[in-house]
Amino acid sequence: MFARINCCVPGCRRGTRKFENADDVICGKCWRFISKAAKADYRRTRAALEAMERQGDAEDAACTVMPETLQKYHAAHEAFCEVWSRCKSEAIEAAAGI
Ligand SMILES: [Zn+2]
Repeated sequence: MFARINCCVPGCRRGTRKFENADDVICGKCWRFISKAAKADYRRTRAALEAMERQGDAEDAACTVMPETLQKYHAAHEAFCEVWSRCKSEAIEAAAGI
């Protein structure tokens, strides 16, 4: 368990201690407001990012991080961030009743 991080949806008083260093989180209750498409994108981009992280770690351990790996990692990270902000705005809009 880590320091509590509050749900990023305004007016929501829930939060989590599950993550060590997350900038913002969406609690389980607000997560339900997000569309299936956005959640599917979230899972897909997160899996891609995690795969890149594993590859990067492996190359890092062998001191052979390839420039292509870095490039792909940045692209995966960017895609993930984009999907995350979409999830966030969907949850915030749903909570605001838009
Ligand atoms: Zn919430």
